[in-house]
Amino acid sequence: MHKGIAGRLLEISSKIEAACHLAQRPDEEIKLVAVSKLQSIDVINEAYALGINNFGENYAQELAEKFSACPRDIIWHFIGPIQSNKVSLIAKHANWVHSIDREKIARKLNDALESEGKKIHALVQVNIDKEESKSGILPEDVVDFTNQLIAHYPNLILEGLMFMPNINASKKAKIDTMNKIKGLHKSLLSELPSCTHLSLGTSSDFEESILTGSTILRIGESLLGKRS
Ligand SMILES: *Cc1c(COP(=O)(O)O)cnc(C)c1O
Repeated sequence: MHKGIAGRLLEISSKIEAACHLAQRPDEEIKLVAVSKLQSIDVINEAYALGINNFGENYAQELAEKFSACPRDIIWHFIGPIQSNKVSLIAKHANWVHSIDREKIARKLNDALESEGKKIHALVQVNIDKEESKSGILPEDVVDFTNQLIAHYPNLILEGLMFMPNINASKKAKIDTMNKIKGLHKSLLSELPSCTHLSLGTSSDFEESILTGSTILRIGESLLGKRS
């Protein structure tokens, strides 16, 4: 199993293409984010050389270190839980944040961005299964929450929704969940037409996620290899 990043990228790209074809969607609609948490700078540089330009990180400090060491035109996505004492690192280094899940974090991030003189692309993390252990905004609160963000936090450019699937769920349960997200996204779009993005797919389910409307795929180990 030593295909390397280039071989895996080819395989994933052709699966994305096939899923887009099946879903009758143009593949330009799909943004592939290589999840590089706990991967080395060398791995990121190798993927970058193959044309990957979007990388996802979960830890603010690690993001800051990689930001300084990697090519300047990389688009960094912060996809992990946001701690309030880390918002300024995220404001400084990320271009996208996928995991806005409470107003306090939105406010602090907005303030930190104000000091940076910067705006960030933001997704609201949804807890569609209402799992107590998982962070995210409950589906019935999503429209209110997004309206709050738009009204009060202008440095967050609201782009849509993010969801973290339960990796232990059955395939059928995952598809049910994805369909719920798709419905929720539709109702959000009818109020806020600029919220076009849906960050749904991960390594194990990205093809299904394309069929249910995902525009951003977060793919880690199946592209970059095992995390150390
Ligand atoms: C780690 C992570 C991923 C990628 O997981 P893989 O199994 O390596 O593809 C995607 N999304 C989030 C939020 C993550 O934390």
